[in-house]
Amino acid sequence: MRPAHFMLLLLVSAAALAAAPLVLGSFTVTLLNYIGVYALVALGLVLLTGIGGLTSFGQAAFVGIGAYATAWATTAHGAPPWLGLLLALALTGGVAAVLGAVTLRLEGHFLPLSTIAWGIAIYYLFGNIEMLGRFNGISGIPPIQVGSISFAAAGAIYYLIWLFLAGAMWLSANLLNSREGRAIRSLRGGAAMAESLGINTFRIRLAVFVLAGLFAGLAGWLYAHLQRFVSPAPFDVKPGIEYLLMAFAGGSGHIAGAVVGAALVTLLKNALQDVLPTISRNSGQLEIVFFGALFVLLLQHARGGLVPFLRRRLPKHTPPPPAAAPPLPRRTLPQAGTLLLKVDGMMKRFGGLVAVSDVSFELRAGEILGLIGPNGAGKSTMFNLITGVLKADRGKIVLQGQAISGLAARRIAARGVARTFQHVKLRPNMTLLDNVVLGAYLRTRAGFLAGALHLDRGEERAVRAEAMHQLHRVGLGDRPYELAGNLPLASQRILEVARALAADPALVILDEPAAGLRRADKNALADLLRALRSEGVTILLVEHDMDFVMGLVDRIVVMDFGVKLAEGLPAEIRADPRVRQAYLGGVT
Ligand code: ADP
Ligand code: MG
Repeated sequence: MRPAHFMLLLLVSAAALAAAPLVLGSFTVTLLNYIGVYALVALGLVLLTGIGGLTSFGQAAFVGIGAYATAWATTAHGAPPWLGLLLALALTGGVAAVLGAVTLRLEGHFLPLSTIAWGIAIYYLFGNIEMLGRFNGISGIPPIQVGSISFAAAGAIYYLIWLFLAGAMWLSANLLNSREGRAIRSLRGGAAMAESLGINTFRIRLAVFVLAGLFAGLAGWLYAHLQRFVSPAPFDVKPGIEYLLMAFAGGSGHIAGAVVGAALVTLLKNALQDVLPTISRNSGQLEIVFFGALFVLLLQHARGGLVPFLRRRLPKHTPPPPAAAPPLPRRTLPQAGTLLLKVDGMMKRFGGLVAVSDVSFELRAGEILGLIGPNGAGKSTMFNLITGVLKADRGKIVLQGQAISGLAARRIAARGVARTFQHVKLRPNMTLLDNVVLGAYLRTRAGFLAGALHLDRGEERAVRAEAMHQLHRVGLGDRPYELAGNLPLASQRILEVARALAADPALVILDEPAAGLRRADKNALADLLRALRSEGVTILLVEHDMDFVMGLVDRIVVMDFGVKLAEGLPAEIRADPRVRQAYLGGVT
């Protein structure tokens, strides 16, 4: 969609929303109020689950905390509702931070399971605290007021709800197109890649979890003053699952999906409540069956949800490539020929197996060093020791005079080591440009707030121009808005190189970049690496393919069975009988 069309659509929607309470009946307006409140919760889940990949069934509990906070403050203490909002946000944010700190380190299915556990726990907590009215709840909650204007009527609080929702959507859209938003989008599919770019994935997960909690808390505040009454039932795990269904039905990867999904599920539920009692007396159970069937249909025919399904049917608009901008600051690189990396007496055991045994070598600035050896020689283990993925049992690694052994992967990235992966790790649903921009994470500063409030535009222009420059440098500059997943393998490898270069690295380490490539692609890759060397980039090439390495690198280190077998110029290595024997198993 063109930006002009998008603005038009936005204006028409805004006008329609503004006019709705004036022309619609109060029943419909009330329905729209609930849709708006639910959409706020679903929006948090779009960010958390759809985009960040962290599933939470417990989101209704945060809505409950927000709702009960304001209900208690305004009824027991006569506090104004706006003070109730502050309390609601402080409590949901605080509880989310604590729960997140405890559970977000859990891997795989443990996180969703733990969200069910706390969802149930908080529900019973509400039901058993005397002060919160036990299962009877709290009634007599006052309406929200601004000066002398009361938001008691459905047609009045309507404007408040949709204004808050529009604001939350605007902040979210800004955030997703910012530095930390891209970090959220990079979470899906494992932390190894994000950490290698310097992203603290735990911090990002915690932040998006707290953000989703805050949206739910805000929704809870609105809900309490809309209903003027709270009780535990709407904050149980079952509504928690419904919120998740809303996020998925609308399109869990899209901000607009939150509204579409909330509307879809709310209207359907409403229609079912009219129809089902005429079919069966057990209409509650029938409702669950119906939603289950709907979920299955959705997964089969519109897996991404309704919004992407519709968007595929709209004409596509490609924006122009990013314009030139003032450059990002650069690292001062060591002078060519000086010592860059010193690997000293590295040792790594896996149980009884010594994968790397007392290996030492040096790397000078501006050279390409090949680390070769037959399968199982210990090359990848060595690679992981240098990049901080594995911790050594013994030995020391010094980069530009500073010890880096023992540091976490993202700290080593911060010292100027950029890497690629043997099994390519890109974000297939992000554009080439965004994948490369991710590589420059450590060269930019904008935080969550700056991103959400659009205060990062100068830096964004600079980093996008830098990414575009790197795409041109590796020869992928013609389609910056193509999705990375649509590229053939060879181009994906090269895109990883561009992402590494975007970090302005002192050292680039490549793990078997030629694996699985055809001859022509290997030649193109070798040409690219040669060009980079002539521009002053230092490269450590970990490779199995001896032919690929021979014509390209300046020096070679050979490993076999965990030890350093030989070191020297390519011609010396080629002539070395021990190397031949290692590679050919003695058949020389
Ligand atoms: P290369 O990359 O040269 O093919 P690797 O470094 O992957 O070699 O492996 C070296 C040796 O260490 C192999 O015998 C391999 O089976 C073993 N190894 C590698 N990683 C692990 C691990 N995580 N646990 C146990 N053994 C491992
Ligand atoms: Mg390997």
